[in-house]
Order: sequence, then C-alpha cells, then structure tokens
Amino acid sequence: MLNYELSELENIVTAAGFPKFRAKQIFTWASKGVSDVSEMKNVPAEIFDKTGLNIDMPKIVKIQESELYGTRKYLYALADGKNIESVFMRYKFGNSICVSSQAGCRMGCRFCASGLLGLERNLTAGEIYGQLLAAERDTGERISHIVVMGTGEPFDNYDNLSKLIRLVNDKNGLNIGMRNITVSTCGIVPMIDRFAEDFPQVNLAISLHNSTNEERSELMPVNRSYPIDVLLEACRRYTEKTSRRVTFEYTLVRGKNDDEKHAERLAGLLKGLLCHVNLIPLNAVEETGYAASSKQAASRFRDMLEKRGIPATIRRELGDDIDAACGQLRLNSRP
Ligand code: SAH
Repeated sequence: MLNYELSELENIVTAAGFPKFRAKQIFTWASKGVSDVSEMKNVPAEIFDKTGLNIDMPKIVKIQESELYGTRKYLYALADGKNIESVFMRYKFGNSICVSSQAGCRMGCRFCASGLLGLERNLTAGEIYGQLLAAERDTGERISHIVVMGTGEPFDNYDNLSKLIRLVNDKNGLNIGMRNITVSTCGIVPMIDRFAEDFPQVNLAISLHNSTNEERSELMPVNRSYPIDVLLEACRRYTEKTSRRVTFEYTLVRGKNDDEKHAERLAGLLKGLLCHVNLIPLNAVEETGYAASSKQAASRFRDMLEKRGIPATIRRELGDDIDAACGQLRLNSRP
C-alpha cells in the first residue's frame, strides 16, 4: 500500500465501509515507516483484514557503512525478490537519500555500473518511497532531501516518478518540499518538457559528460536519440519556464573529456544558460576500464569553467569506500 496516494487510500477505505479519516491515519503511520499494523495504535486492525491492505516495506538485507562519512548503503529485497540499492548521506543541511528508480537500467552509459545488466523492471512509486522509509526507520533519523540518482533512469519511469514526488510531498506524510527533491536524467528530452510543466520547483540535474556529439554518443548511447544541441534547447526552455537553474553533471574520465579543449567547448555551449556544473571525478567500476581524472585535472577543469563565467564545483563523494558513489550502484549486488 505504500504505492497509494492519500486520495487512493481514501477510496479503498470508504469502499470497504470505513470513514474517510482512517485513510489519513494509515497514510501518516506508513510515512513514519511503521509496517506492523499492531503499531498503528488508533487504527482498528479489521480495516486491514477487510481491505486487504498491507504495508509492503522493502526488506533491508544488507547495510554497509562508510567509516569516513557515516554514509550508509542499503541493499533491499523487493516482494518479487529483486535487489535494489539506495544511499543515505549526512550533510550539514540535513540527511539526504539517493534512491533507485528502476531495477537495472537500459540507457547503457559506458562508465556506469547500473546499466551493465540492462533493465529488469521499473520500480513502483511505493518501492521508491519504501527505500526512504526503511532508511529512516533504520537510522531513527529524518531525511529532508531526496535525490533520484541511484540505479535507473527516472525519466524512463516517469509516471511512477511523478507519483513518488506527490507521495513524499504530501503534508499528511513526510511533507518534503519540492525544492528538496532533485531528479537526475541522462537527457530524455520530451520528459524534460513534461517535468518543467508538472514539477517546476523540483531540481533538475542533467548528465552531460561531454561537449561533442561524437564523444558523448560513445559514452552515452542516449545521445544518438537526443544530441547535445537538442538537449540544451530543452534546458533553455526549462529555465525559461521555471526560472530555475539546471545542474549539469560532468563525470571526469581521464584522457576522455578532461582537457582544456573540452572545458573550453563546454563553457561555450553553456554560455548564457542559467546553470551550474557539478564535476564528478569518475568512480571506479571495474568492468568499464575507464580511469578517473586526477585531482589536479579536476581543479584545472573547474577553474577554466569559472574563468569563462560558468559556475562549477567538484562533487564531494561521500561513499566511494563502500562502492556507494555515483555510478557504482548495481543490480547484482548480493547480500
Ligand atoms: N540515470 C540518471 C540517474 C542515475 S546516475 C542519470 O543518468 O542522470 C547519477 C549520476 O552518476 C549521473 O550523472 C551519471 O552519469 C553519474 N555516473 C555514472 N557512472 C559514474 C561513475 N562511474 N563515476 C561517476 N559518476 C558516474
């Protein structure tokens, strides 16, 4: 039932002959990570018998904690036995979770572990929501920020993504503000327009990673469908519609996209666009054969963008010691 929005729960509860307010009680309990009906003190258990509702929290089967940063990587088993991962991170501004939106991924980016085995299936909104609830329950701490940047391409699972956003934003539940949610896409252009329309306050991050079509297509096959100029046009429409800046993620791969020419071209492409570049030194994924740029190369790249008027930062990795950093989540992790 984690997959139900409050209005859907109300229909189920009233159809079974119970008053509408019961739905709100159940929704609120579930948002506290309560999965045992006996813990829902003010709700008669017979509602669950009569409606067949049950709280299908993903089961945590493994936790890895980073000694350096307190980051926790969770491995869950879903009802059908599929395993997915999420990452809980502590920041000064509060706790954040990076959730997966699909079991596997079909985008095939060459440097990423998540797509190595292709796509198994979309996650339901409830399965994405459940990753967060189980982590809150485990840590006993509130999570204030969500990034949809784990395994999967959220814009390849748009309806469930939308529902997830409505679920966590509901004031009867977690009440997480739209501005505390970030969605990252490899650049599925029609969905960027739809997202600007549907969720103008949710942060948008775009995985760019290169400044020429030839090289980007080599790293990211999605570029063959939506090349750079088409993608950046969509980003311009996004900023015009929402007045919000776009974050571009740029993974620095040694010898592939990290030299002066690339920085210069990138600055040229992004000139005049309301944006920010987040540089991510590549995280190691054994199967891909790519190496990370050096710290010096990353700083030089950032400085060159800044000098050309493009705001840029180097992303702090909070979990590479437990394979929990960007691009390291995968389908076949085992308990
Ligand atoms: N499918 C979405 C979200 C998941 S990936 C997207 O493509 O944006 C989250 C971010 O990690 C993306 O920017 C992705 O390109 C990046 N990433 C993937 N593999 C990586 C790696 N090995 N090292 C660093 N970043 C990586």
